[in-house]
Amino acid sequence: MIIGGGPAGNMCATVAATLGAEVTLIEREIVGGAAHLWDCIPSKALIATGGELAELRRAPEMGLQAEGTLDVQALKKRIDSIQQHLHDSLRQLLSSQGVRLVTGTARFKDDHTVVAETTDGLEELEADFVVVATGSRPRVPDFAEVDGERILTTRHCYPPPEIPEHAVVIGSGVTGVEFTHMFTSLGSKVTLLVSRQQVLPIKDAEVAAVLEEAFLERGVALLKGARASEIERTADGVRVSCEDARVIEGSHAVLAVGSVPNTEGLGFDDVGVVLDDSGYVVVNHNCVSSQKHIYAIGDVSGKLPLSSVAAMQGRKIAEHLMGMHNRPHRNLDYDKAASAVFTEPEIADVGLAEAEAFASGRKIRATKVPFTANAKALIKGDPRGFVKIISDPATGVVLGGSIVGRNAAELIGVVALAVTAGLKVGDIIDSLLVHPTLSESLADAAS
Ligand SMILES: Cc1cc2nc3c(=O)[nH]c(=O)nc-3n(C[C@H](O)[C@H](O)[C@H](O)COP(=O)(O)OP(=O)(O)OC[C@H]3O[C@@H](n4cnc5c(N)ncnc54)[C@H](O)[C@@H]3O)c2cc1C
Repeated sequence: MIIGGGPAGNMCATVAATLGAEVTLIEREIVGGAAHLWDCIPSKALIATGGELAELRRAPEMGLQAEGTLDVQALKKRIDSIQQHLHDSLRQLLSSQGVRLVTGTARFKDDHTVVAETTDGLEELEADFVVVATGSRPRVPDFAEVDGERILTTRHCYPPPEIPEHAVVIGSGVTGVEFTHMFTSLGSKVTLLVSRQQVLPIKDAEVAAVLEEAFLERGVALLKGARASEIERTADGVRVSCEDARVIEGSHAVLAVGSVPNTEGLGFDDVGVVLDDSGYVVVNHNCVSSQKHIYAIGDVSGKLPLSSVAAMQGRKIAEHLMGMHNRPHRNLDYDKAASAVFTEPEIADVGLAEAEAFASGRKIRATKVPFTANAKALIKGDPRGFVKIISDPATGVVLGGSIVGRNAAELIGVVALAVTAGLKVGDIIDSLLVHPTLSESLADAAS
């Protein structure tokens, strides 16, 4: 039995069913989960439209005359149709694997019984194993009263009620910078509240600096060391006050201050599943909770909140509960998860970061090449950024990498493969890559 049909739940369902399990999946909204409805898909669809608009603005540099005007209704239709397509194909996949889909809200009745509240009433379902994959939702701080008109969470932005004239984005982690990028691409003025001294505080300073420079060039106001403490509605917008008494007026405020797990109302106390202080399910390396037949995967497990990680947990855990851990079984190594920030330029990294190695005193070899040396980047008219490869100086094994620039999220795949498979820099250098491509910079950085 799986509760929640996001990337974690639906991957777990299809893999478990393929391995021969009888699977029921209970989902209260749509299969595909928040990832498809609110997070990854609509945000990247909006960023894609913003990206096309930005390309059009650069058209004269490419020798073209072109103009772009945003049609918000057409944009909404496009997002809806992408979501519908993904939803239909996921439902088809689940049904082709024999997964029973129940539309309703689930809670535990006892250890092995879950009650689903559906439009037809309550249905009791029993299972040997229960996998909780209920995801998370945006955190709303006490000082903010979200109204969906002027004071928004990310979930009100697909697209927002109107394209903000001046968005005040609160939070400069991945979501905050992606929304800053999205709104500036769509033509909004943006003020970004950066609570520390750099955007993306957990990334390398060098990586964050490239993005800050790009934001400043695009007219984003970066308020460093600014922590919001109050948000009020004004006659025609919002007023955001900071702890240090700075005040910013804008047309809309967008909260991007993290997320909270969907664990309430599931009846965990009744079945003895332990949560941590932030409400995440406490799990071991195999995502098993304090009850050995109850697993928690995806955002609710409090590990890396990424769709890709959620889906991988779903796969591994399906294998685990189907007894495949008796064979050689590789646990999920979160340190090797690639991640990306879909800004312009894009940012992507995997494995060990230079700053992390430096802080721990580990000896590494860090080699870096700028995209200004890459023919394709020059042809595309965008040579910003660099590729950096981190390797073991004694063995040449690739330990990590960071890429800032066009298509970084696609390019990092090669480095992720090298890190996961234990490949050496020589393997990347010896690959006969296509010319002219951005990937040639990977081989150059590995040299
Ligand atoms: C704005 C934004 C953009 C993001 N972009 C990316 C990205 O580009 N790439 C990436 O890898 N990650 C991205 N993420 C993170 C990603 O969305 C999450 O890590 C991912 O959705 C987690 O998947 P999940 O399966 O754990 O949960 P979810 O996708 O949240 O799905 C959980 C499902 O459980 C259901 N549910 C909850 N409670 C119950 C219940 N009691 N009964 C029945 N059903 C229930 C919900 O309806 C939901 O459908 C983004 C996040 C945000 C906020």
